[in-house]
Amino acid sequence: MAINAGSTTAATYEGVQYQADKYYRGGEAHSTTDPITGASDGTLFQTERFGSYSYAIPVTAGTYSIELHMAELYWEAVGERSFNVLVEGQLELTNLDLVSQAGHDSALSYIVENVRVTDGSLDIALEASVNEGTLSGFAVYSADGELDTSAPEPEPNPNCRGYVGITYDDGPNATNTPTLISQLRQHNLIPVTWFVMGQRVAGNQSLMTQMLSVGEIQNHSFTHPHMTTLGASQIRDELSRTNQAIESAGAPKPTLYRPPYGEQNGTTQSVAQSLGLRSITWDVDSKDWDNANTAAIVNAANQLQNGQVILMHDQYAATNNAVAGIASALQAKGLCPGRIDPATGRAVAP
Ligand code: ZN
Repeated sequence: MAINAGSTTAATYEGVQYQADKYYRGGEAHSTTDPITGASDGTLFQTERFGSYSYAIPVTAGTYSIELHMAELYWEAVGERSFNVLVEGQLELTNLDLVSQAGHDSALSYIVENVRVTDGSLDIALEASVNEGTLSGFAVYSADGELDTSAPEPEPNPNCRGYVGITYDDGPNATNTPTLISQLRQHNLIPVTWFVMGQRVAGNQSLMTQMLSVGEIQNHSFTHPHMTTLGASQIRDELSRTNQAIESAGAPKPTLYRPPYGEQNGTTQSVAQSLGLRSITWDVDSKDWDNANTAAIVNAANQLQNGQVILMHDQYAATNNAVAGIASALQAKGLCPGRIDPATGRAVAP
C-alpha cells in the first residue's frame, strides 16, 4: 500500500503505484511544477502534505516497513524547516532540515524497518519545530500484515464539516496576485480556484506557478468579452486559446469555465462542454467589483454553505484584506476551502 501525499491523483515511482492521498489527519496539500532532482521520476515528489499532522492506516497486526519520500518544495535556505517523524509513537527521524540534507527540489527517501503494529492502525506523525513538516509520499510493506479492508473509508478531513469554493477572477495581476497569495498562505485559505484571462497568462509565468501552488487554474475566456454576443467559432477561440495558454504555463488542462459577467447561453455552454469545460458561475457574489468593503466581503463569505462557491476578484485591496476574516468565519462554521468538482459544479474535499 502506497500513498501519493498531497495529491488527488495516483503516481508510479520505481514500479510502485502510489494512490491518491488518504488516511491523513490534518495537514494541507501543496504542489510544484519545478523539476525534482535525485529521483528517477519526480512526479511523486512534486506534491506534498505539509503541517504538523499524522496518517493513520488501518492494518492488521504484523511487522511493517515504511519507505518515506520527501523533498523541499518551498524553502530554499537551511534553517527554514525542521521536523520530526514518529512511527507508532517512536521517534524515527529527528530535526529534519531537507535543504540541509538534500537541497531545494531534491528527492530524499528514508526507510523505517521492523515496526510492530498491534493496535489496528499504523500511525505516522509529523511534528514541526520550525515552520511545517512535509511528506511527498510513503509506501508500506509487510510479510505478515496487510491493509485492513474492513475498516471504514476515512473522512478526507475530520475537521471539515463541509467545503466551499473560494474563487478569484480576472488574474493574473502582477500588482495584486503576489499580495493575495501571501494573504492566502498566511491565513491558510487554501486551495482556491483562479479563473484567469488567457491574454494575461503569457508573460506571467512565475505568477502562474505561484497561483498553482495554492489552488487550481481555470478558464475565464481570453479577452473577457460579453460572450453571449459572439458566434460559436469566436466563443471556441476565446476558450481554446485560454486553455492552451494555461497548459503552456505548466498547469493541468482546465475543467471549468466561468463566463465573464456570468453571461451564458446554450451556445456558450455547448462550446465549453465540447472543450471539456463545465460552465459555472457562483452562489454568493462578494460584490468586490462593486466597491464592497472588506467587512462586506467577509459578511458575504459568511453566507456560504457546504458545496457553495463565492465570486471574488484578483484585483482589489479590500478583497486581499478580507482573507483573514473569511478564513476565521469559515473555520467557525467548520467549513474548509475545497476544489470545485467539474462533474457537479459544487465544492468538495480537495
Ligand atoms: Zn471577470
